[in-house]
Amino acid sequence: MLNSAVLVLNRSWMPVHITTARRAFCLLYHGAAKAVDEQFEMFDFDDWSELRPREGEPYVGLVNGVLRIPKVIVLLTYDRMPKRAVRFSRKNIYMRDKYTCQYCGEKFAPNELNIDHIIPRSRGGKSTWDNVVCSCHECNRRKGGHTPEEAGMKLVSKPRKPRWTPYMGFHFDANLYKEWLPFLNFIDAAYWNVELDE
Ligand SMILES: [Zn+2]
Repeated sequence: MLNSAVLVLNRSWMPVHITTARRAFCLLYHGAAKAVDEQFEMFDFDDWSELRPREGEPYVGLVNGVLRIPKVIVLLTYDRMPKRAVRFSRKNIYMRDKYTCQYCGEKFAPNELNIDHIIPRSRGGKSTWDNVVCSCHECNRRKGGHTPEEAGMKLVSKPRKPRWTPYMGFHFDANLYKEWLPFLNFIDAAYWNVELDE
């Protein structure tokens, strides 16, 4: 139970990290974070330890009772987005393009996508953020060794180097807690789309 995953938000309620319940309790206990419940109410350690776990909810046993395991905590001091260089990698290109073919706009599983050079490599196109996009096999075949203009195809969006931090290497497509969803939707809307200042 102490190893279960807890989503960590920064002061602006943006997800920055996933930690273990053990570490989350440590942060709560030391007043560095507050637990967040389903109603988005914040609890310090004392208030949180007053809460009774509901039916089916995970908890840890203490000498003097039980302690609910939070699914989300919010840090009280950490303000920044974690900074990391954006690695030019297949995964990050797929993530930037949200696993969406940039020609037909459809979403695909990773193995149904490949990386397309907008200006083909055979024509001097470089492997850079602004010259590569996700493409499905079908569109890739259609485009062949042509530029989009020549192939009569249009890009869904103009590719650029992402300014986001590649999200701590976590994937959020599996084992989601429903309690995380409000914050992860926020990522979808803002984290990916809004341009952050360097
Ligand atoms: Zn396509």
